[in-house]
Amino acid sequence: MTAHTRFRIAVAIGALVAPLVVVATSALPADAGTSKHKHEVYMYKVEKNIRLSGVGSDGSADSGSQLVRCNAGDQVLDGMWSVKHVDQYQPPPPDTDEDPDFPSAPTLHGTYDDERDVWVRASYPDPSDLRSWQFEIENKAWGDAQVKLFLTCIRGYTEYANSHHHQIKVRSLFGGLYSAVDQGGWFTSEPQAEPWGKCATNEYFVAPGFDLGSANFRLRGTYPRAFGQSWGWSFITDGSPVPLQISIYGRCISRQVFDLATPRHAIAMKHLPGTSFGSWYASNIPQGDPEERQYTCDQADGDYHAYKAMVGWFYLDSHWDDNWFLGMEPRPKTRSYYFWNHYGGPAAVRYGTLCINSRTSNPLA
Ligand SMILES: [Zn+2]
Repeated sequence: MTAHTRFRIAVAIGALVAPLVVVATSALPADAGTSKHKHEVYMYKVEKNIRLSGVGSDGSADSGSQLVRCNAGDQVLDGMWSVKHVDQYQPPPPDTDEDPDFPSAPTLHGTYDDERDVWVRASYPDPSDLRSWQFEIENKAWGDAQVKLFLTCIRGYTEYANSHHHQIKVRSLFGGLYSAVDQGGWFTSEPQAEPWGKCATNEYFVAPGFDLGSANFRLRGTYPRAFGQSWGWSFITDGSPVPLQISIYGRCISRQVFDLATPRHAIAMKHLPGTSFGSWYASNIPQGDPEERQYTCDQADGDYHAYKAMVGWFYLDSHWDDNWFLGMEPRPKTRSYYFWNHYGGPAAVRYGTLCINSRTSNPLA
């Protein structure tokens, strides 16, 4: 509702000052003030299906190490996976005559032999390339796993309007080792001290990623911090000692588009439903089969109908230790999330997305 009011006021001011803007144009560069032109901002998704073999050798299966790219010249804003299926597989019965020093069947399979045994070791933006994303996924189940990989991408420039376009700027913020000591996250109070730095006030944090190396962690949450200028991750350990060195990654997107260093238009962006923990969308996941949840940028306010859900976040709230995040998918106006709750009652989850307008504002003064 507040956004609705704000947009109405902005339109009214534009109408009042329009005659002055027209008078001022003749002495200004081609783009500034010549009209109320806007540029389309092209955003899209990339997807790839992979099949990871279960326990045992399978030369035709895909590698769990995958580099996925946006189109040349474009910029990745988010990378994600979705574990779609793990095949049923019955391992051979134990041989009662077996010598344990010479096992007849592989013993290093996962705990559950289902979707929970697909471990995401790494998912992060390639530090050397603005359009590439690296995944490292390991299937510990007996059966084969079907996994989908996705990126959301934004072009390096706006589309043309009035015979010109402008640069959309994404820059690296950090990428490197961090000592993971806290499994609970840092979501409870803002503003907070950012242990790894944050974006400027005219930017938002994008492309959150991590590389766990060999640590047996699974993701409990990935979410905005510091009003969207930084990011936090929370992991659930499976016996790995903490503190442990893991790598985290992130970038910043400017909320303005440029001719070289000169800002020319803004791109409206908003974290929906909001960046504070209490504002995140909350839902209960019943015990049973995997459940899908969705958040759409304009579900609460039609003013956001042109926005795309570009960076998603989630958090496993109550009964997190019995609840599994199986992945996300971009729609791209909607973000879908998949959870699988094994607790004997409902488990709470929270989620939301950074929504980005698919056209710029009027030229800046
Ligand atoms: Zn322009």
